[in-house]
Amino acid sequence: MEDKLIQVARWIVASKKVIVFSGAGLSTESGIPDFRTPGGVWDRYHPEDFTFQNFLASETSRQKYWQLATEMWGPIKMAKPNLAHLAVAELEKLGKLDCVITQNIDGLHFKAGNSEEKVIQLHGTSVFVSCLSCHKRYDRDEIQERIKKGQKAPRCDDCGGILKPATVSFGQSMPEKETQEAYHRSSLCDLFIVVGSSLVVQPAASMPLVAKKNGASLVIINRDSTPYDDIADAVIHGQAGPTMAGILEHVKQGLGIRV
Ligand code: NAD
Repeated sequence: MEDKLIQVARWIVASKKVIVFSGAGLSTESGIPDFRTPGGVWDRYHPEDFTFQNFLASETSRQKYWQLATEMWGPIKMAKPNLAHLAVAELEKLGKLDCVITQNIDGLHFKAGNSEEKVIQLHGTSVFVSCLSCHKRYDRDEIQERIKKGQKAPRCDDCGGILKPATVSFGQSMPEKETQEAYHRSSLCDLFIVVGSSLVVQPAASMPLVAKKNGASLVIINRDSTPYDDIADAVIHGQAGPTMAGILEHVKQGLGIRV
């Protein structure tokens, strides 16, 4: 295991453009459940109930959606960055991070200290709510207050449009600018590190492939196996926090920084 951490750290030190691609597994150690782990969200809710089409189609679906969104907002709001987020933020400080491409909607990369321009949020953010008609933005807390007071599927003050957290649901279009930027960066990097993603949610999961096809080394750090383990240059089946902290230590040694 230690050998692998040293190897990945060497690649980071030697690379010019390092991308960290993060998924829900990077945030489970901060107390935010992922979707696919047994006992997780998809054991209690049906993913089909949460498609964008269903959200648009019926008030009942919107109410169910807000029920799950409200259940997840508590842990997200309270969450603190864990060792993995902190290690990624430290890579930026060391000048060893091209960008983070994240599927996460929890904002923890920012809480850890990564800057806005280094983080591409592929699936949006749960920190804001937006109106699907006039695009007015609301603070999430303001809308959660309304839900506490009894609104089950809140509407826009200005135009009466449907309100939805500013996240990308199944069946909803990906944000164009972020998606293009992520593909572009993936094609140019020389090291692509996946942390805590099952790599089954498309199109995000195709980005490691784009990186690999364009000559990057691919590292996968995930508790369970992924469909791309076979083509990766290194696979670490372990916990994101301690693994990333271990790699960071070796990166610092490699850069001649005392640890
Ligand atoms: P996923 O739920 O499909 O898979 C998470 C993966 O992380 C699993 O393969 C699991 O083995 C691994 N994992 C769990 N805990 C880990 C740990 N401590 N260390 C290492 N690996 C760990 O997640 P996904 O691939 O990111 O896709 C789910 C989608 O749901 C994403 O698109 C995302 O938008 C959304 N989501 C986001 C959050 C969040 O923002 N924190 C949480 C849940 C879901």
